[in-house]
Amino acid sequence: SEILLEELDHVGPATAQKLNDAGYNSVEAVAVASPSELVATAEIGESTAAKIISAARSAADIGGFETGDFVMQRRMEVGKLRTGCEEFDELMGGGIETQSITEMYGEFGSGKTQIAHQLAVNTQLPRDMGGLDGSVIIIDTENTFRPERIEQMVAGLSQKLEQDFDPAEFLKNIHVARAYNSNHQILLVDAAMEMANNLKNTDKPVRLVIVDSLTAHFRAEYVGRGTLADRQQKLNKHLHDLQRFGDLNNASVIVTNQVMSKPDAFFGDPTRPIGGHILGHTATFRLYIRKSKGDKRIVKLVDSPCLPDGEAVACITTDGLCD
Ligand code: ADP
Ligand code: MG
Repeated sequence: SEILLEELDHVGPATAQKLNDAGYNSVEAVAVASPSELVATAEIGESTAAKIISAARSAADIGGFETGDFVMQRRMEVGKLRTGCEEFDELMGGGIETQSITEMYGEFGSGKTQIAHQLAVNTQLPRDMGGLDGSVIIIDTENTFRPERIEQMVAGLSQKLEQDFDPAEFLKNIHVARAYNSNHQILLVDAAMEMANNLKNTDKPVRLVIVDSLTAHFRAEYVGRGTLADRQQKLNKHLHDLQRFGDLNNASVIVTNQVMSKPDAFFGDPTRPIGGHILGHTATFRLYIRKSKGDKRIVKLVDSPCLPDGEAVACITTDGLCD
């Protein structure tokens, strides 16, 4: 009983096409858009945009307010993606939540990309094995996705869970796109939304989107004080798009953010990302990852809205993330 965009008031075939091309391919996606977003991306006037959004909101039954029981209903659907490391899961209240953005920040080599690979594998597991029974989208900005690593981790999981998992099947459910610059990176979220819509009613809906690294292109492209506000605005929109992706697909969103090893004295606390709180207000869970002895990593939960701050020790081995 899905409502088509064309069925909305004020949306003719041409506008429906424009909206589709801009990545708004469901009534829900339009309903949670802002008028200025639609104006910018779908080439329609401000007042038409407002009317379309309001039509989409009544059609999709998305109002500005929700009653608590409705919020509770959606919260009840929140999935928890297990990491492969029990301490890490406990730190996160059972696992990485869906419908939330989880930021991992840390130095180069601290293990952010490794953890992301592991989550891309675990997401595909059935729920009773700690997965989300879903497929994965990776927006790879640094060209660090390695299918060989996925194979190793699937082999590790086969051993650990005493199952005969096929690495090739896992690779088929990971959709990777390289992002060549920050604008491309932002556009890829629209493409991801389209892919998620296509996979929505299959047996492997998209349940995880990874942006690794979230900030590298932005850092490289926006250099100097004058451009900081612009960078911030673009990043905020990008994160807003990602949050919307998580909400609409009941998916987890993982973003990574590299920080420097020797923070400027002015910033003092090395557990804070350099450049201020780029993501402070939008990332729901913030994890600071740092290297410890051997293959050990310390994962620290910082500023969570609903969980106590704390630390966990995880190991990164050839078989993947473990206790
Ligand atoms: P970041 O993304 O935070 O910069 P990575 O996730 O790329 O860092 O972590 C790289 C580290 O992961 C390596 O230095 C190594 O310790 C570990 N690692 C990478 N591949 C393997 C592997 N096949 N087996 C064991 N450890 C690995
Ligand atoms: Mg990395």
